Amino acid sequence: MEKIITDLHMHSHFSPDASAPLEVLCRAAAEKHLTTIAITDHAEWHHQSQQYGFPLAEDYFAAIEACRMAFSPVGLTVLSGIELGNPHQFTRKAKNLLDAWSFDIVIASIHWLNGHNIHHATCFSGKSPDEVYIEYFLEIGRLAAAFDFDILAHFDRIFWQGTQLGAPLNAFRLEKYIRYAFDIMVRYNRVLELNTKFLGTPNNWNDTLITLLLWYRDAGGTKIVVNSDAHQPAEIGRNFALAEKLLPLAGFSLPESLFVPEPIAISDDKG
Ligand SMILES: [Zn+2]
Ligand SMILES: [Zn+2]
Repeated sequence: MEKIITDLHMHSHFSPDASAPLEVLCRAAAEKHLTTIAITDHAEWHHQSQQYGFPLAEDYFAAIEACRMAFSPVGLTVLSGIELGNPHQFTRKAKNLLDAWSFDIVIASIHWLNGHNIHHATCFSGKSPDEVYIEYFLEIGRLAAAFDFDILAHFDRIFWQGTQLGAPLNAFRLEKYIRYAFDIMVRYNRVLELNTKFLGTPNNWNDTLITLLLWYRDAGGTKIVVNSDAHQPAEIGRNFALAEKLLPLAGFSLPESLFVPEPIAISDDKG
């Protein structure tokens, strides 16, 4: 079994919902024998978000540079990154940020659906759960088509809130909408993230993920990225062993199917 040795989605104290300095994240990653990480703090423009844009970019890049110097001798590559919340709805502001700063990894997330935070129960209020899920997959399609990014983060996050409300996703009932979202993602070259936060959750969580990953493959998705979305150092690389078991069940062989970020892409010399 191949080990997953990269984690390209985690948060430092440059995110309003995390508190670790970058060097603490790097030390934790090195202790877990990861070889490449990306520190991907939040940039948000929604009026309900806790932060506007990514205000401390200069300090963040100085910290990234210091970590690169400190951790490259121990074999850890530190990439810069950003997690953009709904960038397709704040296109000009998001593009300005990406033009001003050169991030190695650009992650996009749906954090907001119809004005509601997808992490909150209000996201489901006044509608049937299936209606909310359908809107969510249509929104993924709009995001993937309308904004240029590398990785779609935690596509399963909204299922968690639905599950808490007694309405877990029934993938087969919404198959055409889910396949539609994956078709667009593949057409625009967006890589799907397998977010490990909820891996191993009871009640068929992993079975649902396998079904969805199989449909992503059907759409032509060949690459996948396994990320922890750590908000604390101890969460880096969480559940990676479960991901290593799950991915082959969805037809993703390791390590060939894993997304390798461009700055460290290994040239193919096999001809
Ligand atoms: Zn997120
Ligand atoms: Zn995140």
